[in-house]
Amino acid sequence: MPLLVMKFGGTSVATLDRIRRAAKRVGREVANGYDVIVIVSAMAGKTNELVGWVEETSPLFDAREYDAVVSSGENVTAGLMALTLQEMNIPARSWQGWQVPLKTSSAHASARIEEIPTDNMNAKFAEGMKVGVVAGFQGISEEGRITTLGRGGSDTTAVAFAAAFGAERCDIYTDVDGVYTTDPRISDKARKLDKIAFEEMLELASLGAKVLQTRSVELAMRYKVPLRVLSSFEEYDPNAGTLVCDEEEIMESNVVSGVAYSRDEAKVTLVSVADRPGVAAAIFGTLSEGGVNVDMIIQNISEEGRTDMTFSCPTNQVARADRAVQEARENGLINYHDIVVDNEVCKVSVVGIGMRSHTGVAAKMFDALSDEGINIKVITTSEIKISVLIDRKYLELAVQALHDTFELEKTA
Ligand code: ASP
Ligand code: MG
Repeated sequence: MPLLVMKFGGTSVATLDRIRRAAKRVGREVANGYDVIVIVSAMAGKTNELVGWVEETSPLFDAREYDAVVSSGENVTAGLMALTLQEMNIPARSWQGWQVPLKTSSAHASARIEEIPTDNMNAKFAEGMKVGVVAGFQGISEEGRITTLGRGGSDTTAVAFAAAFGAERCDIYTDVDGVYTTDPRISDKARKLDKIAFEEMLELASLGAKVLQTRSVELAMRYKVPLRVLSSFEEYDPNAGTLVCDEEEIMESNVVSGVAYSRDEAKVTLVSVADRPGVAAAIFGTLSEGGVNVDMIIQNISEEGRTDMTFSCPTNQVARADRAVQEARENGLINYHDIVVDNEVCKVSVVGIGMRSHTGVAAKMFDALSDEGINIKVITTSEIKISVLIDRKYLELAVQALHDTFELEKTA
């Protein structure tokens, strides 16, 4: 039997009515001849509520109990979805992560999937089960404790099941109808993309486009699982949504496919650090041990063998960064004269696989920003992405200007 994985996010299972709507979609695919693995999130808002309860009960909580509590939202929707399907006369049952079992590392609250044995579920499919409804976001560690995969983790559950069971496709049902060229709340010219390459989606997801958990896209790319992002609120249409696929399947790739942004960035400069081997390693080693996710880095020559080291990180990690470098300075590991923090910056990026074969994208981007009088503070590039750090007050303007410059309203 061909197999499909269908994942329903929190808004798509937020009420019993919506679970029924989702179940109808599943029923349609069963009627089309598929066996289906359904992955469900918790009802919208449920996980936040559970996290709140844990934090209120125990601010420095035991992560194993955190996982025991926050994984429970998915148990409810998995059972309700199975019941709904049964009411439609579709042979269905629910599976909690440990029953599959979905085996993970022991890194509670951000566990990694290690293995999904297929025997148990396949045996049930062989006995006539048409739909296995799996609670997303959760698994079991080697120690036999319940784990969770990090917020948004049921996307990753879905892709991992699709890879393990060799599904034809993994459909991710959500509250938007696909992946857009940019955030439609910022540019009313944003367009839905019909197709996007794994690598582009990976950049967009890690740059702050929130449709898919970044790790799910990594997995999909590694195992070449075609992913479709679509809305569970629209009428059924077999070509709906955005297909995230191998770049070979995209005939005409766009030079730029999307403009992404991340609003809450900070720029931190360590003024006058020694300019000699080992200094950068000491600084960034210190920051990494301090749990700071450093993003962009630039080093400027100042004078007399000293240099300024600038990096960016999320604003909510500035305090941590500050503490880490101060401690390292007190311990004589690093040395700097001053630390200067700019908390009012944001990052805007353009992404597209076509950049590999087209030159001049950076120049065009910088021109567009300069035409708007926007000063660039830091630049980084990869093969398919250019990111700039700019004043936060220009975020909307920059996104709109870049969307216009690269004519993304014409993209399909
Ligand atoms: N319910 C979990 C969360 O809200 C996992 C998910 O929905 O993907 O993060
Ligand atoms: Mg999600």
